[in-house]
Amino acid sequence: MKYISTRGDHDERRFCDILLEGLAPDGGLYLPTQYPQIDAATLQRWRGLAYADLAFEILSLYIDDIPAEDLRVLVRRSYTAEVFGTPEITPLKTLEPGLALEALSNGPTLAFKDMAMQLLGQLFEYELGRRGETLNILGATSGDTGSAAEYAMRGKAGVNVFMLSPNGRMSPFQQAQMFSLQDANIHNLAVEGVFDDCQDIVKAVSNDLDFKRQYRIGTVNSINWARLLAQVVYYFAGYFQATKSNEEQVSFTVPSGNFGNVCAGHVARMMGLPIAKLVVATNENDVLDEFFRTGVYRPRGSADTHETSSPSMDISKASNFERFIADLLGRDGARVKALFTQAGGFVLSAEDKARIADFGFSSGRSTHADRLATIRLCHQQYGQLIDTHTADGLKVALEQREPGTTMLVLETALPAKFAATIREALGLEPPRPAGLENIEALPKRVTVLPADVAQVKVFIQAHV
Ligand SMILES: *Cc1c(COP(=O)(O)O)cnc(C)c1O
Repeated sequence: MKYISTRGDHDERRFCDILLEGLAPDGGLYLPTQYPQIDAATLQRWRGLAYADLAFEILSLYIDDIPAEDLRVLVRRSYTAEVFGTPEITPLKTLEPGLALEALSNGPTLAFKDMAMQLLGQLFEYELGRRGETLNILGATSGDTGSAAEYAMRGKAGVNVFMLSPNGRMSPFQQAQMFSLQDANIHNLAVEGVFDDCQDIVKAVSNDLDFKRQYRIGTVNSINWARLLAQVVYYFAGYFQATKSNEEQVSFTVPSGNFGNVCAGHVARMMGLPIAKLVVATNENDVLDEFFRTGVYRPRGSADTHETSSPSMDISKASNFERFIADLLGRDGARVKALFTQAGGFVLSAEDKARIADFGFSSGRSTHADRLATIRLCHQQYGQLIDTHTADGLKVALEQREPGTTMLVLETALPAKFAATIREALGLEPPRPAGLENIEALPKRVTVLPADVAQVKVFIQAHV
């Protein structure tokens, strides 16, 4: 399998080349030249597989520069019941017939980012070891990516992590999770700004090709293709658990921010997984909902980014979105480049907008009041405690589900991570997994910096 940029640079790369890179040199995102098609016999064979073996089958369609026996070891190390709490790895929790949560948040940092990041940690260690190289990972997080990356990379030889987060905007639990890590290779940088400022700094540093090369800068942001690929697996795993035969279709509702999670669903659907609808659920930061309803893509600035009670979705420029637009426009790199380099966003033609439905997408939005109501409803009606992001998903799923098609809502975090809103909704304290009871009291390791590219570079130079 070869990879090309969404913006038309057809210099083909292989998986391990793009594994350690961020954006393509032309500023686009990498995509496989085509999506492998899964026939009925293959789908049937995959139905009975354990999660790690299913992951191996899917990944090996996209990775031809790691020997199969090595890849199998890496996925088996990543997806264990010890790390993810259950043998199913992503078990379904049925709410009522035709409606279930798919649990993606039982990894070490209690959010779905662990699903991809645990594998990425294994892949990075393997590939860097094979090359005898080191890497300095530069990332931006609104909360969950950073901790997932740090827990996946902590203590790994040859890897440093520089993680930018918006100062004071994460929940106390999220801050404690990241800042309490004392590993020498983990660096927490709290930036005075919002998540998009952090992301802009990462992009600016990565676009400085000399700096990037000299300091061996890599990324683990959701634009990383390996992360997206790892996420494709749980769409298949959810489908197999929810259905008895491959004749059935299911729909997924996905709490969305950077469009990474739902983009993996798009890839699964392009491979032939029988997905009826992919429902994009946003919070008040509804740039994606606006796009899927109207065909108008209007990314917002930091000043228009709302701070909400589902903070991991407080994103106004969805970085993976360009991948979907590339597919929507038939991989016309010149048009993709034109749309994503013009200021202020873009408006799809009526013809292009009409084709969105062919890709199964629809959308909805949710507010703080909706989250509270949905957390209450889920607790009272179904006896399940859900977090604020999953609540955004469930709220939209209840509006969009169709009779006869099972709707799976991706559970993207555990309620313990967002306790304040659970208290507000239900007046109770969400349970914490064992060992995390006093995490806020641990000593913190963090440096506060202004939203300034040059100062971030200086910090990196001083710590590699
Ligand atoms: C990251 C995150 C999201 C958004 O996922 P994207 O891939 O950015 O769309 C939703 N919920 C939680 C809990 C997250 O951590």
